[in-house]
Parts: sequence; structure tokens; C-alpha cells
Amino acid sequence: MDFEYSDRTKALLEKLNKFMDEVIYPAETVYEEQMEKAKDRWQLPPVMEECKAEAKKRGLWNMFLPADRDSGDTHGTMGLSNLEYAPICEVLGRSSIASEATNCSAPDTGNMEVFARYGSKEHKEKWLKPLLNGEIRSCFAMTEPAVASSDARNVECRIESDGDSYVINGRKWWSSGMGDPRCKVIILMGKSDPSAPAYRQQSMIVVPRDAAGIKVVKMLHVFGYDDAPHGHAEVIYDNVRVPKSSILLGEGRGFEIAQGRLGPGRIHHCMRAIGVAERALEMAIKRAKSRVAFGQRISEMGVTKAHVADMRMEIDMARLLVLKAAWAMDKFGNKEARQQIAMIKVAVPNITSKVVDRCLQLHGAGGVSQVFKLASMYAHQRTLRLADGPDEVHRDQVGRLEIAKYN
Ligand SMILES: Cc1cc2nc3c(=O)[nH]c(=O)nc-3n(C[C@H](O)[C@H](O)[C@H](O)COP(=O)(O)OP(=O)(O)OC[C@H]3O[C@@H](n4cnc5c(N)ncnc54)[C@H](O)[C@@H]3O)c2cc1C
Repeated sequence: MDFEYSDRTKALLEKLNKFMDEVIYPAETVYEEQMEKAKDRWQLPPVMEECKAEAKKRGLWNMFLPADRDSGDTHGTMGLSNLEYAPICEVLGRSSIASEATNCSAPDTGNMEVFARYGSKEHKEKWLKPLLNGEIRSCFAMTEPAVASSDARNVECRIESDGDSYVINGRKWWSSGMGDPRCKVIILMGKSDPSAPAYRQQSMIVVPRDAAGIKVVKMLHVFGYDDAPHGHAEVIYDNVRVPKSSILLGEGRGFEIAQGRLGPGRIHHCMRAIGVAERALEMAIKRAKSRVAFGQRISEMGVTKAHVADMRMEIDMARLLVLKAAWAMDKFGNKEARQQIAMIKVAVPNITSKVVDRCLQLHGAGGVSQVFKLASMYAHQRTLRLADGPDEVHRDQVGRLEIAKYN
């Protein structure tokens, strides 16, 4: 295992850090002000398009997409490996607006990978191209309110064949990104054949956001945050009709695609989470250095040093584990690296939630307010223990695969 950054990564990191200092960090305040003043929270603050234009100009665009393992196709992107992208993604994670500004944000990254790997020529032309250009956005609809969706076999939404169409009926929730007016396409997982073997019952299908019969019931809040203009929607699909060509890869192949999609999505979440933790730690140290209590700088107190030391060690351990997973994905493929991916999906959000919690404590009451970013950082890190599958499911997989190694 060699985690030395490649020359491409080093060059990109230099450019990216400059972009963060010159464009992204200053734009964070503008973004917040524009959101506060906006009459409609479900419109994108104009500063985002300015950041996107600047990122494109500086060659910091679509860095997430690795070259296809079989064909080598990069779809016009740099084709960075997972290991090369990891440190880039970490830096992007330091700001809540950097990933979108560079067209590297979820759920579009996962959806673009699906279109790139499993989409037909038509899907690529109609959806992948504008997604790669940052002209539209997308969402992924698997989770349902009525069933325990951590077991995707439970998904009930029906995809039924009818002549030259499929008809979709069901209710989904936590469809992230659905609130964005630029969200034009949904990748939906549903049941196409309830009588097939358990892992062949589900299919993934492409649904245009403006198809007749799609009704948003409500937008869900995360610890009180509406996450506008992105948002998480509860949605009814009432006799939504799409052409037969909308099915991805073929009927009954939903699990196969999920396997391919969720691996990279999970590692990206973890890489970004490490960036969040680094930023929180930096903020906490600066804050502790600037305040005096009981005649002593907070940074000089023994308990602060102990907390800082633990956080430094935990973040570095998390990063090494993520780099190992990225390396395994590049070397062996997403399927073979599934234990490493499951390991980071449990370890990293637990570590980063704890780090942000301690940094929040070091800020005193300000930490839970809107003045610092820590409250929203904490809320989002906590959700990562659920999103893309709860801790328990991934822990179970790690244990199962480990036990299976021995007779
Ligand atoms: C912020 C956020 C964004 C999300 N975005 C999306 C999205 O874009 N698209 C989408 O489709 N979904 C999305 N989700 C949903 C997420 O993927 C699901 O919530 C998750 O998979 C769990 O499903 P569930 O909520 O139905 O929990 P359930 O399946 O009802 O599970 C509840 C709890 O049961 C326990 N449990 C479950 N299985 C096991 C097990 N094997 N062993 C032990 N305990 C177990 C766990 O404690 C688990 O948390 C998002 C969620 C959040 C919070």
C-alpha cells in the first residue's frame, strides 16, 4: 500500500486550496446572506453559479469520476482514481458549498456514476451530459416511509410493465435534492417482479422530475434544518408512466446497480466528513486560543490539550482507514472492497460526530448557535450514521465477512 499523493493530486490540491481561500471561504458568508434575504428558500443563491463558473475556469470540475475499470472511459473528466480523489474530496468537505461548486456533490456524483456505468446511450446523452456540465441536478429515491428501508428488499414501490411503458406507484421519502428547482431527473428503485428471487425483484428506473403523477407531500427537516435549496422530499408516485427504455441495465438488476452506486457514494461521504472534522478542529483551536477563563487561556488547559490530542489521533486514524478503502476500491473493485467500505461507513461518521461535538463544546454556547457552523456540522455528521444505511447494517457486514474468513 502506497498512500503517497500522485503528482496530479499534488497539483490539484495546490489549485484547490487556492480556490478555497480566494473563492469558497469568502462565498460562504455571501451564500448565507443571500439565503437569509431570499423570498423563496427553494431557489439557488446566485453566488453558487459564480463559484461554479470560477471552478470550471480553474480546472476544478468533476474530479470525482474514476475511469471505467473495463473501458477506461472517463466521460471527458480527469478520471482520478479513488485514492487520488480522496485528499481532494477531504478539502471540499471543509466547506458546505465547495462540493456543489466543483460539481462533486451528492447525490449527483452517485447518479452520474450510475449513468456512466449502466446508462444507455440515450440516458448518457439526455441526463449524464447536462449533469456533468452542472446544468441540472438529480436525486435518488430508494427509501420508503412504510418499510424498514435499510433492508432494500423491503422496498414496495411498484414498477409495472404496461405495453411500451412502465407504470410506477408508491411513496418514497428522504429523496435528497428534490427541493432544488434544477433537479430534473430521479433514479428510482422499485419492485418490478415480486415473484422473483429476493435479489432479483428490484429494478432501477430513470424518471424525469416533471413526469405526470409525481407529487411532493412535504420536505423533511434534519434536526430542524430544512437543507434548502437542496432538501429531502417525501414523494408520491401515482401512476407515473415512463417509456420502457427508462429501465437501467434491465429488469431485476436493481441490487447489482445499488452495489456499484453505493460504494463510491459512501467513500465520498467519509472523505468529506474528514474535511468537516479538520475544519471544526481548526476552529476550536483558534477559539480556545482566543479566550481566557479562570486566569488561563482555554487552549492551555490540560483537558483542552487532551481533547485536541485525541481528536488529532482520531482524525488521522479515520483518514488512513479511508485511504486504505480507496486503495482497495482502485485495486480490487468496489465489490471486493466492500468490507473496507463498510468499515469506514461505520468508523468515520462516528469519529467525526464525536470530534465536532467536542469542538462545539470548546466554543461554549456559541457552538450551538447559528453564529458558528458547528451546530449544522454536528447535525449533518450525525445523519451520516443513517444515510446510505445505518451503522448496524454495515457493522453486521464487517463482522460477517470477517467471520467468513475462518473455518
Ligand atoms: C439526511 C439523510 C439523507 C438521506 N438521503 C437519501 C436519499 O437521497 N435517497 C434515499 O433513498 N434515502 C436517503 N436517506 C435514507 C437512508 O438511506 C435510510 O434512512 C436508511 O437506509 C435507513 O432506512 P430506514 O430509515 O427505513 O430505517 P429502518 O430500516 O427502519 O431501520 C431503523 C433502525 O433499525 C436498526 N437496524 C436496521 N437494520 C439492522 C440490522 N441489520 N441490525 C441491527 N439493527 C438494525 C438501526 O438502528 C436502524 O437505524 C437519507 C437519510 C438521511 C437521514
